Amino acid sequence: MFDRKTFVEINIKNYIHNLELIKQRTKSNIIPVLKADGYGHGAVPLAKAAYNYGVDFIAVAFLGEGIEIRKNGINIETLVFNYATPKSIEDNIEGYIYTLGSLNQLKELIDYFGKNISKIKFHLNINTGMNRMGINPEEIDDIIKLTKEYNINIHGAYSHFATADNLDNFVKEQYEKFISAVKYIENSNISIPIKHICNSAASLYFPEYALDYVRPGIATYGLQPSDIKAEKGLKPVLTWKSTVARVGILKSGESVSYGRTYFTKKDIPIATIPVGYADGYFRQLSNKGYVLIHGKKCNIIGRVCMDQFVVETTQIPNVKIGEDVVLIGQQDENFISAEELANLSRTINYDITSKITKRVPRIYI
Ligand code: PLP
Repeated sequence: MFDRKTFVEINIKNYIHNLELIKQRTKSNIIPVLKADGYGHGAVPLAKAAYNYGVDFIAVAFLGEGIEIRKNGINIETLVFNYATPKSIEDNIEGYIYTLGSLNQLKELIDYFGKNISKIKFHLNINTGMNRMGINPEEIDDIIKLTKEYNINIHGAYSHFATADNLDNFVKEQYEKFISAVKYIENSNISIPIKHICNSAASLYFPEYALDYVRPGIATYGLQPSDIKAEKGLKPVLTWKSTVARVGILKSGESVSYGRTYFTKKDIPIATIPVGYADGYFRQLSNKGYVLIHGKKCNIIGRVCMDQFVVETTQIPNVKIGEDVVLIGQQDENFISAEELANLSRTINYDITSKITKRVPRIYI
């Protein structure tokens, strides 16, 4: 497993620290979002940590992700955000809360389950402006009618902010739409025990909108939820480590890697790192990214290949094969964040960690 000394280290203490920070800030209960294998950090160990920390339930995007967590012995109630087929719901009623995201979906479920639909636990997703999932205002009366007729178990309601990371006024607009939709439903004698709307950015920067629960993902991993405002209290959970696989000199006038995109004008010392885009290290970091060796930044020269890339080590005398390399995280006094790699790759930090592939072992400390 550690044949090439390349792995991701996941710091559970930092994960719990981040959950606690969000809890203190919002004075709310937390639904940790563990979709996409916990944004690449590993959903099963983090679900276990969150369960031991005392969360009431967790959230995933797809039912299959929840099944994987429960199959690994973590008996925690799991909210499924996305569509699941009626058959897959029928096979997995206990332990799950399903999202009711449109009138058509409810009709499909009623066609399949008939009166037995009352056995399923639901959270309503109310569309307040994200417009990808959620019940539209004009569907609410029909949802109320069918809920009463079929005795549907509405355990909660939620909505999702489109721009909390921009800290703009649309957040307030969405919040107000959500509250008025919820009140309208409750005034029709349907109780909604649990309400939640805040993702990470909203939890940290609009804590006044935290309702019974908040639903943070990115910040729980210690990653910044907004480019506009940094939250210094978060502790990154993930460190990506590797090693030096080869050292050498790139001679004056020579090029390195595929496509010959980098030439040197003088002799330079170089090191090869055994990590590539098949590990989820972005190819866009070719000639742009850097790693830490001896705590110093070493620039990538040439293209990132499938399994390796090359860095220049001019500023470090005497780099040796087998020495430690950090791709994301701290080494001595220097730090490389997922955010800076995201900027260099023209993407977001979510993309950087969730793309680290299964070929890279995760270890939990
Ligand atoms: N809630 C829903 C419905 C989501 O889809 C997501 C993720 O995109 C989250 C919460 C968590 O968002 P974030 O990672 O920005 O906190």
